[in-house]
Amino acid sequence: MLKNRKIIVTGAASGIGKEVVKQCLHEGASVIACDINEHSLYGMKRSMDDRSDLHTYQLDVSNYEEVAKFFVYVEAEHSDVDGLVNNAGIYLAQNILDYQVDEIDKVLDINVKGFIYFSQMFGKKLFQSHRKGVIINMSSVSGMEGSSDAIYGSSKAAILGLTKSCAMNFSPYIRVNAVAPTMVNTPMMGMIPNWRKEEYLGHQLIDTPVLPEDVADTVIFLLSDNAKHYTGATFDINNGGYLR
Ligand code: NAD
Repeated sequence: MLKNRKIIVTGAASGIGKEVVKQCLHEGASVIACDINEHSLYGMKRSMDDRSDLHTYQLDVSNYEEVAKFFVYVEAEHSDVDGLVNNAGIYLAQNILDYQVDEIDKVLDINVKGFIYFSQMFGKKLFQSHRKGVIINMSSVSGMEGSSDAIYGSSKAAILGLTKSCAMNFSPYIRVNAVAPTMVNTPMMGMIPNWRKEEYLGHQLIDTPVLPEDVADTVIFLLSDNAKHYTGATFDINNGGYLR
C-alpha cells in the first residue's frame, strides 16, 4: 500500500509509533523514525530486518531548532519525503488542580507545539514545491470527549483543531487527518491509574482491547491512496467508548 513512499514517524521507538514504523516498512515504504530516546531507536533498528529501509534520528520534537535541523537533514538525504505521522507524546495522570507550571509547559510543548513544528516544516517543504503528501496526527479519545487528566486532554483536543486547520492551509496538496484511539496497551498506558482504566474500559460497547497494531492499521490506511477522499477528518478507534 505504501510502495515508494517516504514517511516520517515521530515518537517512533515505542508503543504505537513503533508499530506504525513496522507496518510502513511492511507495506514497502521507506521510514525516517524520530524519537527522543536514542537507546530505544537503536534497539528498534537492531530488531528490524537489515534489508528494511529504516533511518533513525534522535531529536526532541518540542525543540524548534532541533526540528529545523532535522528538516535540513531530510532535505539533504530524503528530499522526496511525502508522509508525516505526528505521534510523539507524553501523558500525565493529573487533575488540573495538581499541575505545576513546568508540567503544563512540558505537556503542551511536546503534545501540541511538537505537532505544530513538524506540520509547519513538513507543510512548507511540500506545499512550496506543489508536491502531494499526507499528515496523520495522533490525538486521543481524551481530546474528543475531555479527560480528568485535564492538560493531556486539552493537548489532544488542540490536535483536532490543528488537523482541521492544516487541512485547510495545506489544501490541495496535503491531506491531514487525525486518529483518536481509546486506551491502547503501550508503556504509556502503564501510567494510567487502574481505577481509571477499569472505569473507562467498562463503559465500552466492544470489549476487545485496542492494540498498537490496530491503530497502525488505521494510520496505514490514511497514509495510502485508499484514503484519497479524506482530509480534516478524525478517525475514532474507541470501541464505542463514548456512546454511553
Ligand atoms: P509510548 O510512551 O509508548 O511512546 C511515546 C514515544 O514518544 C516514546 O518512544 C517517547 O520516547 C517518545 N517521545 C516522548 N517525548 C518526546 C519528545 N519530546 N521528542 C521525541 N519523542 C518523544 O506511548 P504511546 O502509547 O505509543 O503513545 C503514542 C501517541 O499515541 C501519543 O501521542 C499518545 O498521546 C497517543 N495515544 C496513546 C494512547 C494510549 O492509551 N496508549 C491512547 C490515545 C492516544
